[in-house]
Amino acid sequence: MQALDTLDKAGYRRGGARRAVVELLGRQNCCLSAQEIFDGLRKARRPVGIASVYRALDALVDLRLVKRVDAGDGIARFEPMSADGEHHHHLVCRDCGKVEAFSDPRLERAIDRVAGGLGYSVDEHEVVLTGACADCA
Ligand SMILES: [Zn+2]
Ligand SMILES: [Zn+2]
Ligand SMILES: [Zn+2]
Repeated sequence: MQALDTLDKAGYRRGGARRAVVELLGRQNCCLSAQEIFDGLRKARRPVGIASVYRALDALVDLRLVKRVDAGDGIARFEPMSADGEHHHHLVCRDCGKVEAFSDPRLERAIDRVAGGLGYSVDEHEVVLTGACADCA
């Protein structure tokens, strides 16, 4: 994984909290909250204190290895930055709090078109759709 090479170069020791967090996130297709990361590491028998999880996430966001996802519900979630430019957006269920990924090339083209007319050099965008999931609707 490219993120692990970057950590090596940045001088982070193997077995540290940052590495454990990167490895866990690297196995996800989408985002996890800090609490879910904490629980996931415990389950994987690599327990890391919650404060260390938060510190690791801050450092990884600074290194641009991890992206903070704001789903609009006040819970910070995190997902790996994709090295290959894979790009998706999020659906959030207001009832059960589930977050799912979606992507749509038509949406990307529409955003590019709009961005092109705004006079900004736009390099990032966020789209979050909120409502009730299929189970909760
Ligand atoms: Zn995601
Ligand atoms: Zn739901
Ligand atoms: Zn997009």
